[in-house]
Amino acid sequence: MSIALLPEALRRVLEDLERFPGIGPKSAQRIAFNLLTESPAFLTKLQNDIGGLLGGISKCQNCGMLTDGNKCKICIDSMRDKSVFCVVESSLDIIAIERIGEYRGVYHVLGGLLSPLDRVGPEDIGISVLIDRIDADKPREIILALNPSTEGETTALYIKKIVIQSNPDVVITRLAQGLPTGAALEYADDLTISHAFSGRRTLSR
Ligand SMILES: [Zn+2]
Repeated sequence: MSIALLPEALRRVLEDLERFPGIGPKSAQRIAFNLLTESPAFLTKLQNDIGGLLGGISKCQNCGMLTDGNKCKICIDSMRDKSVFCVVESSLDIIAIERIGEYRGVYHVLGGLLSPLDRVGPEDIGISVLIDRIDADKPREIILALNPSTEGETTALYIKKIVIQSNPDVVITRLAQGLPTGAALEYADDLTISHAFSGRRTLSR
């Protein structure tokens, strides 16, 4: 189908949808044509819901998780063990880990992973924010739940090196290698994540 034949409003929606990862032209067409069959009430709701993303979402001032307040729901939960930090690449990784319901500590979201080739350095991913928090809160364990890619390994080793300089007694662990190399945590199945956590290995000491 040549989309030039379609009405302008529909073409614009197709272009918007194709920006998303995993959505090619065919998926975009399927979603857009489905939207056309939806009720005006639903389309208005969708419009409002997407509009709600504008200005309504920020990062937790404590851990960097997405939130609609100053602090995220995990940081304000008094039942969480504040002495265990789990360091992840993005808020999506927290959702994947929380889905299993076994981890009771808190998190820290980096702003990405170190990648010297792409000129992504420690300041670009907020390493100093993490170090400040560790120095202040003195956790007993830091779990590096970073993906097993080259960037994930580089970032884990860098964090370990910096953290033990000022916190020689903290236990630093890395998730077990159950995850396929390069696979994102957010796509791993529950059992794989559960095994990766229970089989985590110690990097420090
Ligand atoms: Zn938080």
